[in-house]
Amino acid sequence: MNFANTQFIYVLALYGIVVLIPFLLLCYAPLKSMASWRMNLGVRTKGHSKEILPTLGSFIVLYACLCLIPTHKFVSLSGWKYHLSFPLVVLIHDAYFYWTHWAMHKSKFLYRFHEQHHTSSDATPLDVLAFHPVEAFVHFIFFAIYPMVIPTDLSVMQFMFVWMLVCNSAGHLPYEFYPKFLYDFPVIRQFNAATHHQMHHKYYTTNFSIYYNWWDRWMGTNHKDYFTTYKKIKAAQSVLSSSSSAVVEVPFSRGAHETTNTQSLQG
Ligand SMILES: [Zn+2]
Ligand SMILES: [Zn+2]
Repeated sequence: MNFANTQFIYVLALYGIVVLIPFLLLCYAPLKSMASWRMNLGVRTKGHSKEILPTLGSFIVLYACLCLIPTHKFVSLSGWKYHLSFPLVVLIHDAYFYWTHWAMHKSKFLYRFHEQHHTSSDATPLDVLAFHPVEAFVHFIFFAIYPMVIPTDLSVMQFMFVWMLVCNSAGHLPYEFYPKFLYDFPVIRQFNAATHHQMHHKYYTTNFSIYYNWWDRWMGTNHKDYFTTYKKIKAAQSVLSSSSSAVVEVPFSRGAHETTNTQSLQG
């Protein structure tokens, strides 16, 4: 089997494990026992079927990009070069994602290609690959360009894809699992909690970064209430876990396309 086919099967299996299973268990038929972890920032006005066709299109684009990967460019790294190559690709992809995402929001022309990803204000893991084909190409071509520019090991790029899909799936979950005690440490707080991307889907105009909060902070594009919203959600979670009530009202400001701004934390 050729390289693209092998990698494509590997990606499909990965998608099933880190995207479809969390979606089914936490969003489509949510486990009642997990209700207290929900953040309920947004309002779902439609079902989930609108994500299916764009996702299938993204898989076709992904396959095309896999065919473009210059396999002869991969090198065999060892020692410190191998260990440094993963953080390097994460940092570069973090910047690549921020600036391409920022551009798609700032340009009216480009936003038409990103609009597909913003069809509901409460994202779920099913939105992870729900892209217009042009946007899908912008995202996946990174994996073909990177080995042409920076010598890297195939296993590093494979792990990078796992990292990207896991972080994206977690960021699109309407649940905040990031523990508050970790968030109290400034070094760890650099990593975006799920609240960050959920607020991006709700308010549209802020929170463009993917893994780390640096670019949003440096460029002044963090939502001004990001940290307070995260704390509010964690406070609501602790009330739910210590109370017999299954409903806690958490008032958030209204997001784009929303007609109500108060949701319950009911499963
Ligand atoms: Zn966006
Ligand atoms: Zn998203």
